[in-house]
Amino acid sequence: MISAWAVEAVALLDAEMERTPVTPLRRFPLPAGWEVRLWMKDESAQPTGSLKHRLARALFRQAIASGRIAEGSTVVEATGGAMAVAQAYFARLLGLPYIAVMPRRSSGEGVERLGGTCRYVDPPLAIYGEARELADRIGGHYLDHYVSAAAVDWHGGSLAEELFGQVGECPHWVVVGAGTGATSAAVGRRLRTHELPGRLAVVDPENSAYFPGWVSGAADYSTGMPSRIEGIGRPRMEPGFVPDLVDLVVPVPDAASVAAARRVRRDTGLTVGGATGANLWGALELVTRMRAQGIRGDVVTVIGDAGARHLRTCHDDGWAEGKGLDWRPHAARLERLLDHGESWTIP
Ligand SMILES: *Cc1c(COP(=O)(O)O)cnc(C)c1O
Repeated sequence: MISAWAVEAVALLDAEMERTPVTPLRRFPLPAGWEVRLWMKDESAQPTGSLKHRLARALFRQAIASGRIAEGSTVVEATGGAMAVAQAYFARLLGLPYIAVMPRRSSGEGVERLGGTCRYVDPPLAIYGEARELADRIGGHYLDHYVSAAAVDWHGGSLAEELFGQVGECPHWVVVGAGTGATSAAVGRRLRTHELPGRLAVVDPENSAYFPGWVSGAADYSTGMPSRIEGIGRPRMEPGFVPDLVDLVVPVPDAASVAAARRVRRDTGLTVGGATGANLWGALELVTRMRAQGIRGDVVTVIGDAGARHLRTCHDDGWAEGKGLDWRPHAARLERLLDHGESWTIP
């Protein structure tokens, strides 16, 4: 039986969803005369500043409705970055203690500001075991978002739910990145179940398992290598990523993602990270294809997050140099395309 606390907690989450405005769809400027339009759904407008807000809400709702999180449960997760911030926000909304186990080098500032606690662990891959053990030890609940995202029930709160109504005609391509894979799966399911004509492309950074796994059809593909692009790319195919729903995976060089993140900042004023850069780069490849094939229509991609912290990564020359990312040739390529209308040749 569901407790009175759980009923109230679910109602709080649903009310938060109701009062959160639909995130804006921004037009990304392409050269005059092009018959393809490019749109970016701006998830940086979410209350916690990223598209993880939706997934965190849905995962809390599901864990509460199924009794895995009860009144007073300490919620534990293995993650730094945007997901930890979004979860800390919902834990605070529900009056639950929250602990994020994160790699030593990450910043827990956003989590602590929302009343959550951070535990720093080394090496980075030890966060998962540590979070599970900690939850066991204290009788808390380990949310385990990479696994639980596979069975997520969005209750109407997914990005796909909002997106298609905003564009008018169904876009020719929707372009997203994959971390847990949940966003791409939600978009893909929406396209299939509503028999929409649009297609789904996933952009994938270097070192990630999604591109080689999707191409080879090996569901257990693993690179064992961390992604340099925050938010997207995984060392293994995560269970939330559904390859059959994806029409195309576009590998994007990390240096191109950095160059494109800078371009998004220049053209929209939003300080986006590499994941949004990868989205723009992949979307522009598809715009180029459509133009080459004489297809008109819309391409939609996502601004996954934005914030001053990205000034210390993608937008910082020293950071890029330290990572060995030479973004300049890619920036020049973007200029040729966007400022001079010279189409890219597709490899
Ligand atoms: C997590 C994340 C993604 C990927 O979303 P998933 O639904 O987890 O696949 C894309 N962009 C940014 C900025 C993210 O933080």
